[in-house]
Amino acid sequence: MTLPQLTEYITAMGEKPYRAKQLYEWMHVRLASSFDEMTNLPAGLRARLAGEADLAAAVPVRILTSKIDGTQKYLFRFSDGNVIESVLMHYHHGCSVCISSQAGCAMGCKFCASTIGGKIRSLSAAEMLEQVYRIQKLSGERISNVVVMGSGEPLDNYDHLVRFLELLTDENGLHISARSVTVSTCGIVPGIRKLAQEHFQITLALSLHSADQEKRERLMPIAKRYALPEVLEACRFYFACTGRRVTLEYSLVHGFNDGQEDARLLAKTAGELHAHVNLIPVNPIEERSFSRPDYRAVQSFREQLVRKGVNATVRREMGTDISGACGQLRRSYQSEENGGCIS
Ligand code: SAH
Repeated sequence: MTLPQLTEYITAMGEKPYRAKQLYEWMHVRLASSFDEMTNLPAGLRARLAGEADLAAAVPVRILTSKIDGTQKYLFRFSDGNVIESVLMHYHHGCSVCISSQAGCAMGCKFCASTIGGKIRSLSAAEMLEQVYRIQKLSGERISNVVVMGSGEPLDNYDHLVRFLELLTDENGLHISARSVTVSTCGIVPGIRKLAQEHFQITLALSLHSADQEKRERLMPIAKRYALPEVLEACRFYFACTGRRVTLEYSLVHGFNDGQEDARLLAKTAGELHAHVNLIPVNPIEERSFSRPDYRAVQSFREQLVRKGVNATVRREMGTDISGACGQLRRSYQSEENGGCIS
């Protein structure tokens, strides 16, 4: 609930409005995970809240820490038994958390581990916030950046995503700057257009992976539903409405989308959009046979973009020793729970 909604809820319980403010602060600033912790609320109110309200607490079931760079992967379980993963990364400019927006994913991108078991369900705004809150609390780090780039398609969970963004950036809450938040999408056109009109100052990242319609379709089934010209037009609309440059994500797959013609097309597309390009050498997953180009090929692909005036970076790899790629940790956990079989 937003603060005004919470105020309405609390006053309907017969309590004074200032109790809502206290409760909101416990949840969104002090990051309490139970009503018991809220010691300046009367015991009777705490008991009533515990009886009728749900804090959507995320319980950490596994925390892995990379020996290479300190990156941490968290596996959280929600009350219905679903597990999702989130990542904490340390950068020189601060700490960034990558959160999941759904348990599983319905989009079916060919190289992605999150989608193999399909979509189980979308996460609520509270469950998305919980990932940030629990990580800040457990790690003791101040989280400055949030990226919605974990499992799931955020624009397939639109209303909860928007509520999450409102609460995350609320000045009465954790107050993370909207400019430090990125939402990544596979290209759901109506969602991009709608988000543009919310006028958040967040960054939109589009998972492009090929600037050629036919090739993109082979990697991403959603491309058949929303063709490239339409997706790129929606990105231009996003830029026009918000003034925020779009980022293009491009997972490099050896022998598939890493050739000179691919680079030329990508440079043209990025140039027209004034977009930044983020290159990600594909993370091989067990279930698929994709491999990544070698280091030199990645650098030369990047140089081709830079020569054409495109701002392009290669994503720094983090936590490679702790199931780096999307959905891998959750899958290995599920496979252990099932005695090694993934149904
Ligand atoms: N559904 C959203 C966000 C989740 S995925 C989206 O599609 O953007 C976050 C990013 O990781 C996307 O760009 C996705 O295509 C990419 N990704 C997923 N699996 C990957 C893998 N095995 N290797 C490299 N990038 C991957």
